[in-house]
Amino acid sequence: MTGPEAAPDRIELRRLTVRGNHGVFDFEKREGQDFVIDVTLHTSVAAAAATDDLTETIHYGELAEDVAAIVEDNTFDLIETLAERIAEHCLSLCAHVEVVVHKPSAPIQRTFDDVRIRVERFRTPAGDSTGRAEAYLNLGANLGDARETLVQAVEALDRHPDITVEARSSFYRTAPWGGVEQNDFLNLGLIVATTLPALELLSVAQGIEVACGRTRELRWGPRTLDIDLIRYGSDTAELVTETNRLTLPHPRAHERAFVLAPWAELVGETMVRTPDGARPIGEILAELDDQDIARITSG
Ligand code: ATP
Ligand code: CA
Ligand code: CA
Repeated sequence: MTGPEAAPDRIELRRLTVRGNHGVFDFEKREGQDFVIDVTLHTSVAAAAATDDLTETIHYGELAEDVAAIVEDNTFDLIETLAERIAEHCLSLCAHVEVVVHKPSAPIQRTFDDVRIRVERFRTPAGDSTGRAEAYLNLGANLGDARETLVQAVEALDRHPDITVEARSSFYRTAPWGGVEQNDFLNLGLIVATTLPALELLSVAQGIEVACGRTRELRWGPRTLDIDLIRYGSDTAELVTETNRLTLPHPRAHERAFVLAPWAELVGETMVRTPDGARPIGEILAELDDQDIARITSG
């Protein structure tokens, strides 16, 4: 397999039963029936076990909700498609998954116990063939010693065994975004290389936020440290996902000069997704010239 070493551990969700409207017959789509799902995620639980910390592992309550939503919110002819869709979602959580979809009430005119489809999928890394993916992160702070916090956060990310900071932008002093009256922010951008799946990278970032004293109060209000995952993967193979915990690429990146300016400093040109399709970063940034942002050239 490609990607990170196969983890001997697994998280197993068994016999999740959800009513859905999949099937080739009209009455199946109309009346619905129970689908029973088994999910196996091959992922190391060592970090979570060592720290007893939920953010270090995959939250199986959320996993069950996300899988149930895929069953409930779609109508497919085939359970093959349903299984594939669930597997695709699970690959945003870890690099190797197995999904079984059972259809115990399938329209078969014989006595039978169960009919099921099993798929096993491995993540094709969004990065290169070594299983490393590149990601762009944006960090911001406006409480306490913002500069010191940002320096500490970059160091903490780089210290993680599965993350390497490849490039750091200048600091930018930027006006707050979102209408809450507060101090200016200090922001910077980072390119990292990582063997972690996107959600695990976010969990690590959130752990660092908490370690830096972050609490969540007002939306878009002041904070000691905010680390947003803007893009995971490259121009040609970026991860696109939308779940409760992680949306990629970051859905508001294209509206924010404080995200785009440090990014452009690091990569020169890149294409950024917007609701109007992918556009060159320089072009979008030029349109955001009313946003108050200053590159700090010293230090
Ligand atoms: P914004 O996302 O508009 O910058 P924010 O950074 O203030 O807002 P937070 O309170 O830091 O928002 O995060 C709220 C939730 O957003 C987090 O719990 C996280 O799970 C989720 N989230 C979804 N997608 C991303 C992403 N790409 N990067 C970071 N967090 C994300
Ligand atoms: Ca943010
Ligand atoms: Ca955030």
